[in-house]
Formats: sequence, C-alpha cells, structure tokens
Amino acid sequence: MSIQSVGIIGAGTMGNGIAQVCAVAGLDVVMIDINDAAVERGLSHISKSLDRLIKKETLSVEDKNAALKRIKASTSYADLKGLSLVIEAATENQAVKEKILHQIDEIVGKDTIIATNTSSLSITKLAALNSDPARFIGMHFFNPPPLMALVEVIRGLQTSDATHRAIIEMAKRIGKEPITVKNSPGFAVNRILIPMINEAFFVLQEGLASPEDIDAGMKLGCNQPIGPLALADLIGLDTCLAVMEVFFENFSDSKYRPCPLLREMVAAGYLGRKTGRGVFTYDQ
Ligand code: NAD
Repeated sequence: MSIQSVGIIGAGTMGNGIAQVCAVAGLDVVMIDINDAAVERGLSHISKSLDRLIKKETLSVEDKNAALKRIKASTSYADLKGLSLVIEAATENQAVKEKILHQIDEIVGKDTIIATNTSSLSITKLAALNSDPARFIGMHFFNPPPLMALVEVIRGLQTSDATHRAIIEMAKRIGKEPITVKNSPGFAVNRILIPMINEAFFVLQEGLASPEDIDAGMKLGCNQPIGPLALADLIGLDTCLAVMEVFFENFSDSKYRPCPLLREMVAAGYLGRKTGRGVFTYDQ
C-alpha cells in the first residue's frame, strides 16, 4: 500500500516537524490541533523552519511555497476522512491518546494505517483500542523531525506485516532511515537516552557541577553533539518526565525513579524551549 496523504494529530514540537517533512517530500498533509491558535503556531513554526532551509540553500522559495500549500491546518477530525495514514503526535498522555484514537477510528476508512509518535506508551495497548489493531503501528520520529534521520518503527503484537512494510517504505520515501524495534516501554533509543537525561538532573540536583559544565562534559568527553540538559530543554522537560514515569511504572524498578528536580521544574512550568525556560533560558 502506497501512502499519498497523511493526517497529523498535534501541531506541537513534533507534529509540525513531521507535517513539514511529509509536505516537503510531496505528500498531502492535514495537521490537526485543538484550537486555531495551536494550528497557527504550528504553521508559523513550519514557515520559519523552511526559511532556515532556504537560508542554508537546501530548499528553494518555490519548494517552500509548494510544501506550505500541501498542508491543510484544521481543528476538525472530519478532515482525516480518506487519508492513507494518520500519525498521532499529541501530548504524551495515555488518556489523551486513547480519546484521540477513538476519534480517528470513527472517521478513517478500513485501509487507513494509524501510527503513533509516542515516546514511551505501549503500542500493543494503544493498538487494542482500534477496530483493526493490525493496521496500528509506532512511528517514532526524533526531535527536530526535519533534521533527525531516524524513525523507530515499533511493531505491536497485533501489527501486520503489510502495515510494517508500508511504514518502512513511507519512512524511506520522506528521507528517513527506519529501524524496527519490538514493543517495550521507551522502545530502544529512549530506553537508553531518557534515563541518561534523568541522571544529568540528579547530577545537577546534587550540585556536582553547573548545568553548562555538565553539558560541556558530555559533549567534550563523550562526543555528544548536544549536552543532556540542553537536550532535555529541546525535548521538553514534561515529555522527559512522562517517559521516566512510564519506565518506573512498567519495570517496577527503582533505577527508573524520576529525579525530584525534574519533577519540580515541570511543576513550575519550566518545560524547556517551548516555554522559553527550562534548565536554560531562551528568547521566545
Ligand atoms: P507538544 O506539547 O509540543 O505538542 C502536543 C500538541 O498536541 C499540542 O499542540 C496540543 O495542543 C496537541 N493536542 C493535545 N490534545 C489534542 C487533541 N485531542 N487533538 C489534537 N491535538 C491535541 O508535544 P510534542 O513534544 O510535540 O510531543 C508529541 C508526541 O510526540 C508525544 O507523544 C511525545 O512523547 C512524542 N515525541 C516527542 C519528542 C520530543 O522531543 N518532544 C520526540 C519524539 C516523540
């Protein structure tokens, strides 16, 4: 099955980036969020991101305009009708995603593949909410989607070979490099990455080094392109915390205990780049 049109649920950090990648690759996109302000923010983010590519001379002005034309921004799930793929990229919360998946299931046709960009929730459990769980799969992009090559493709227990094949093909078509992972909390990459970020918050909480030095240490000593604290700001501290909570709950292992400082910062609304302040501060 060849995918020609994609619906994206959520126009936030990941949703707008995925919408951009799909539109630049020539797919028709419907990007949905809960209100006009959220979809407008998503569109404006895409426009600025495409401008940066023009500046780098990797995209022409014509290509930018064509890509923007392929994106329909909407607040109505009815616009998902007839699309070949819907990617859920809304807030990392089981209850929110369950509600969204029910709404999608009621609208799309029996051939539509439904994917989720969840960072940590069970693909098998989310698949079970759909009328045809065989057409459900995890399609985990990395932040920022226009720049990061990887897509983790996660098979739930019920995912069919045809669904898996179609998503691998689609990921390649939009210029990504897919890897296939079995369903498990955090899959492969976040299982390694998020506990490392959580540990960086423990190091910060214990006052062992300044945030700048913690990040410099991991960049200069471990060849990481970005320090773990700056990366947490990029991912969103709320998302990092949500993923740690999933590990802690699912593995029942104290090694996944979320750092109290991370909890405290999320409670304060210091969520990272998206709120202008996380571990570091940013111009909005
Ligand atoms: P975000 O907070 O930036 O955006 C989430 C968006 O979902 C918001 O705009 C919100 O209004 C919208 N939303 C909430 N409920 C909705 C509904 N019922 N219908 C439509 N839209 C709704 O979050 P994000 O960082 O973009 O994360 C989205 C998903 O991607 C999460 O599952 C997250 O775990 C995953 N993810 C995040 C990253 C990252 O680095 N941030 C990386 C990979 C995967």
